[in-house]
Amino acid sequence: MRILVVEDERKTADYLCKGLGESGYRVEVARDGFEAEHLFEEEFDLIILDVMLPGLDGWQLLQLIRRRSQVPVLFLTARDAVEYRVKGLELGADDYLVKPFSFIELLARVRTLLRRGPPRESEHFRVADLEMDVLRRRVTRQGERIALTNKEFALLELFLERQGEVLSRTYIASRVWQMNFDSDTNVVEVAIRRLRAKVDDPYPLKLIHTERGMGYVLEERA
Ligand code: CA
Repeated sequence: MRILVVEDERKTADYLCKGLGESGYRVEVARDGFEAEHLFEEEFDLIILDVMLPGLDGWQLLQLIRRRSQVPVLFLTARDAVEYRVKGLELGADDYLVKPFSFIELLARVRTLLRRGPPRESEHFRVADLEMDVLRRRVTRQGERIALTNKEFALLELFLERQGEVLSRTYIASRVWQMNFDSDTNVVEVAIRRLRAKVDDPYPLKLIHTERGMGYVLEERA
């Protein structure tokens, strides 16, 4: 089980890292919001998130996490204000712990969250022999598992949601990268090339098509 700890206070981070490590979990630590954002590309079974962070704060990070994943999130905060608790839960935190807390208490919450796993409504897409189980983060073609990064997964999920529709680079950039301007849509082309290399290139039936000057579309074509 992999846990990401996002915490800028070195003492707390070391304490969590050591304690969770000794309890058998693999732990990665991010010291600020930007470092955390980078690590979200990897897969974790649980994220422990401090609210007050340099760079992006815990609220912003939680919103980024929820755009792409249902991974359980345990919030840590120094304040027990009710509005903090409510805000965290509204944004999609799964549980909440007020500092200072005992390690035993934290461990109990961690175990409960990992047992509960990612619940919520099930979502499943299928086009030809391509299948995506959104909650289990699983993509297969011809029954073979395809490993995708979080961005590739988000991109494919967008295509599957909007099956048969031509999506422009700008639209894709805004949905997957939250870039709301005509910036470097080259990012989109590179990501689509990578996605195709995994999802289309090894298979005879191509599903992602380029519409020159317009964008891309995912559909089964005879
Ligand atoms: Ca902090």
